[in-house]
Amino acid sequence: MEEFIAALRSHGYKITPQRRAVIGALRACGKFTTAQQVLEHVKENFPDMSLDTVYRNLGLLTDLGLVHEINTRRREGNIFEISLAEHHHHLVCLECGKAECLNFCPIHADEVTRAEENGFKVTFHSLEFYGYCQECQGDVPKRQ
Ligand SMILES: [Zn+2]
Ligand SMILES: [Zn+2]
Ligand SMILES: [Zn+2]
Repeated sequence: MEEFIAALRSHGYKITPQRRAVIGALRACGKFTTAQQVLEHVKENFPDMSLDTVYRNLGLLTDLGLVHEINTRRREGNIFEISLAEHHHHLVCLECGKAECLNFCPIHADEVTRAEENGFKVTFHSLEFYGYCQECQGDVPKRQ
């Protein structure tokens, strides 16, 4: 919590009770949390909080690099992970939506250099691997 507060302050953001509640909910809800789950948690203390406000706060925390947003391609929405670990990527199951952390990054410096060939300056990348987790592999036809 303290590092979140410090990072928000150093970027000139106010620590509103709502913002504090969103951070608290992220911590309380476990590793991978949807905005809806954050909202349900926060609503216990802030019944008027809207999903939009939750998304705005999650977006801010993501922009500051405090939270990592994982694109699940699911109707339930993306999931958010507190990004205290090293830069890493995720496996996302297309069937159950479960995510798993990968403890390595498959993008190497020379590939970033290639991406910058036309003068674009790359500052970060985001990458998810989609497929089926072990439990879901049984009866799901493999997409090529
Ligand atoms: Zn699965
Ligand atoms: Zn992760
Ligand atoms: Zn990477």
